[in-house]
Amino acid sequence: MENNSNENPYLTRLKNMKNINSWLMEQRGKKAVEALKKNAFEAVYVNDTKTARTEILKLIPKDAKVGVGGSMTMRQLGVLDELEKMGTLIYDHWKPGLSPEDVLNIRKAHLTCDVFLASANAVTLEGMLVNTDGIGNRAGAMMFGPNRMIIVAGVNKIVNDLQSAFRRIKEIATPRVVKDMGIDLPCATTGFCMDCNSPMRACRATVILERRPFLSDIHVLIVGEDLGF
Ligand code: SF4
Repeated sequence: MENNSNENPYLTRLKNMKNINSWLMEQRGKKAVEALKKNAFEAVYVNDTKTARTEILKLIPKDAKVGVGGSMTMRQLGVLDELEKMGTLIYDHWKPGLSPEDVLNIRKAHLTCDVFLASANAVTLEGMLVNTDGIGNRAGAMMFGPNRMIIVAGVNKIVNDLQSAFRRIKEIATPRVVKDMGIDLPCATTGFCMDCNSPMRACRATVILERRPFLSDIHVLIVGEDLGF
């Protein structure tokens, strides 16, 4: 971008820096989408959360029973608010006021709902999806159960390969999630994974989708913004 005005050239470069960062993330996002398609997932790159919300809502049939995993990304997109306005039955175990039994039943319902909404802990440039759970309702639903899965990830979730995905989960995603949830774990205190043996350890079940599993219907949206943890 040329600076035709009298603007300070460093200010112009600072503005350019933002554009360049967005451009790089877009290139990575589109590359991940191509790789996901090669691995038989339905995948699309969208620029922003508004477009992502519109595309997700198009993929949810009327009267579908919708499950949602513990996903900050999905809540940032405002999809649940829109579904609630439409009167959709949502299995959301983060709703306030639920008893432990209700929460367990909702987690089980995730495995048999019509549409399950989740984010990914990491998406590799090889087109693989990686998620680590403490309980496994999200990881389980990703493999088998719901009629349709919709997985959304911001460009911040894109990593080069599986090793980087595992590192992202232990070094970035989990410490932030457990800090947010106020769970007493070493990574929530130090900010670093200590490969803990805590009874509350969050990292217990990891699912890698290297190709779309047979009989599944999985849509992945990569959004050109930073979303979730
Ligand atoms: S293994 Fe333990 S310390 Fe490491 S990220 Fe998981 S919960 Fe945190």
